[in-house]
Amino acid sequence: MRAALATAGAALLQAVLDGGGDGYCGPRAACGCGGQARYAGGRPKTITTVPGTVTLARAWYHCAACRRGSAPRDRQAGLLPGGALSPGLAEMAALAGAEVSFARAAGLLAGLAAISISARTIERSAEASGATARQAAGQQAAAIRERRIAPLPPPGLLPGMLYVEVDGTGVPVRPSETAGRPGKGEDGKGGTREVKLARFFTVSGLDADGKPVMDARSSTYVFSFDGKDVLAGLVQAEYLRRGGDHHRQVVALGDGAAWIWSTAGALYPRATHIADIYHAREHLTDLAAHLAFITPDPAQWLQDRSEEPGAGNIDAIIAAASRYPLAGIKAEELDKKLGYFRNNAHRMRYAHYRRLGMFTGSGAIEGGIKAVVCQRTKQAGMHWTVNGAADIIHLRCQQASGRWDELWPTRTAQPSGLRAAI
Ligand SMILES: [Zn+2]
Repeated sequence: MRAALATAGAALLQAVLDGGGDGYCGPRAACGCGGQARYAGGRPKTITTVPGTVTLARAWYHCAACRRGSAPRDRQAGLLPGGALSPGLAEMAALAGAEVSFARAAGLLAGLAAISISARTIERSAEASGATARQAAGQQAAAIRERRIAPLPPPGLLPGMLYVEVDGTGVPVRPSETAGRPGKGEDGKGGTREVKLARFFTVSGLDADGKPVMDARSSTYVFSFDGKDVLAGLVQAEYLRRGGDHHRQVVALGDGAAWIWSTAGALYPRATHIADIYHAREHLTDLAAHLAFITPDPAQWLQDRSEEPGAGNIDAIIAAASRYPLAGIKAEELDKKLGYFRNNAHRMRYAHYRRLGMFTGSGAIEGGIKAVVCQRTKQAGMHWTVNGAADIIHLRCQQASGRWDELWPTRTAQPSGLRAAI
């Protein structure tokens, strides 16, 4: 039945396309370069659609100035540049390719929809969809930052707290993507490039134990491979888009890296800063190891400190570690390790944050990194180009942010004509 419907559907679609002309718009047409392109005859194109293969009749225009050709009908049909998949099938390729490996995606489309396209075609199409969406998102972010677009404040009563959490991870890339770059990736592993991810979410209430509960479907994500400053630009736009200033309380939560605080300080100065408590405990364990040669009972020393992070008693940790007469390199190293506690002490008032119903751990961004980045891009044997990984991560961010439909104009606007058909 499915095969019969597909055959009939493809024939019907072909008839609709044949009745729609070829996009001829006179002997000349404006070219994207600013020049005038001349009509150069018909150049039909075979495209793959969900029901099957069809042929699109196209008037072809060639521009002498930039030596490029184009068909107005490609744009009318909503084809991606150079794409051979219909918009409907391109969305399916993006959906599957964002979720699982391209080879697995080809298997899913064959198994679930009886569509036979290669892994390579899915890769090209999904990445082209991601690239187009990424470019549009970058332009939208710039327009919001420059106040050319003013996002409407969300309707109704806003949740009390908006969290912004940021972290990074290394994505395995091809050798050409790390050539000429100094040293290893920021995560300490060679052959990777760091992607930084920011997660926004809201909290409206507490559970029965008085712990904060993340609002369902409140998470949105932005990311960048291009370092903290580019990420900061995207975070700023997302903060404005989500009406950050309209929330009663903004919380910036991170692992303690200095750039996270400077970014937060610049973009949302009234935010409460919280340094992740699990990182604080790791730093405490590290401190105990550093002092083990001089403390009478290192395990006991650590045990004696175990309540201090949770109580936000950072002064006690610093005092306990400073009690011993160290000199030379040992003293310098201790000073460095204590710097983390000194610099972040005001971000480690964990007992106070708990009373206010705030999160003290950065589990949300760590979960986000796993779900949005690692599960798709860090599987065995994967080596990405930075652009390819960014295209796919962008699709995954859109999906995880509940903004998938915005990528497909035919789904959000009233589709008309050719676009609606294919
Ligand atoms: Zn041109």
